[in-house]
Amino acid sequence: MPGFEIFGEKEKKEILEVLDTGVLFRYEFPEQRKGVYKVRTFEEKFAAYCGAKHAQAVTSGTAALKVALAALGVGAGDEVITQGFTFVATWEAIFDIGAIPVFCEVDETLNMDPDDLEKKITAKTKAIIPVHMMGAPARIEEIVAVADRHNIPVLEDTAQAAGSSLNGKKLGAFGKCGTFSFDAVKTMTTGEGGMIITDDEELWRSMSEYQDHGHDHAVNPGGRGGEGRRFIGFNYRMMELQGAIGLAQLARLDSDIIAPQKKNKAAMKEAVAKLPGVTFRNILDENGDNATFLAFFLPDGEKAKKVNQVLQENGAGAVYFAVNTWHYYPKWEHLLNGSTLCASGWPFADSESRRKVVYDPEGLPKSAAIMDRLLVYQVPVKLSDERLAQITTALEKAAMI
Ligand SMILES: *Cc1c(COP(=O)(O)O)cnc(C)c1O
Repeated sequence: MPGFEIFGEKEKKEILEVLDTGVLFRYEFPEQRKGVYKVRTFEEKFAAYCGAKHAQAVTSGTAALKVALAALGVGAGDEVITQGFTFVATWEAIFDIGAIPVFCEVDETLNMDPDDLEKKITAKTKAIIPVHMMGAPARIEEIVAVADRHNIPVLEDTAQAAGSSLNGKKLGAFGKCGTFSFDAVKTMTTGEGGMIITDDEELWRSMSEYQDHGHDHAVNPGGRGGEGRRFIGFNYRMMELQGAIGLAQLARLDSDIIAPQKKNKAAMKEAVAKLPGVTFRNILDENGDNATFLAFFLPDGEKAKKVNQVLQENGAGAVYFAVNTWHYYPKWEHLLNGSTLCASGWPFADSESRRKVVYDPEGLPKSAAIMDRLLVYQVPVKLSDERLAQITTALEKAAMI
């Protein structure tokens, strides 16, 4: 899966160009930087790679979600719909902007179920965040169609799907904007970092200014300090070293990360296919899969647990997301309990400490039935023959139970 597996000379070379100038910051220092603008160049190349008009780099994938929500005008009193199988960051960002996350079922794409989405839309819904989990697309065209009918913007959380596409179009480019993460475990990494893509120039300008304390980038894009501000902002600026690493990783994404993963995934899939009764995740476009994960279903939860027991005993355990505390709704105890550092109970309670939102652990029965049967292997960029043989042997043993 991760770009860190291939970190090497190309990344070092890009970093050295920044260190040679001594300008670690994306804005200002026009003379000292000798024409080196790594973050800006990374944005331009990333946008072009995704087929989007604009890209805005930020400090993380979580920041990317928050900056995008801010630019879309989402805030206190609003609802934002996302799915119950995602990383906690998706709904942390919704709370942090002051809005309330509403959770939607997933289907066998392991992403947002468009039918359930339609049921969860209310007059308060101000954004919809489908997540392209584990490198493969949500039913994004159907989701955008539902959203368009209700005139609600779609923000794609593409944190786990850099380089993936659906019918030739890159994920993240279907909605009003798409966000990416380059953290330690993502398909390409900058150490920490994030990106937002959009075709909407006004939205981009708002994002660009919001992540930079509100500095007016249209009036005075080069110099700083003398200009006014259109609105309050925050600091989510990416630094040049991250931009440098991003440039190297982006150049290697298709050839050095996704291509070997595809090969390794095919080999692992062949081994998994030997399990009696196994079926695979519904991947809408196999060609567009970035092949970071191999997800498969056993006929029922009992069987999934038994199979994984044997896989574990033979050194090739899969991830059983039904018990995962970071990615699956009923296991997010801090969400369900309304745990917060804020003394008044915000964001779960109002300023009078009255609880305003309660989450039912059994609120997503369709997702529960799907997650119960699901096992997942992460696909490495580097898969040795020995490791593949170990996985294959473990699967052969599991096939006999
Ligand atoms: C990793 C991730 C994020 C957050 O990214 P960070 O860069 O770690 O802040 C958001 N959404 C999903 C689905 C993720 O997997």
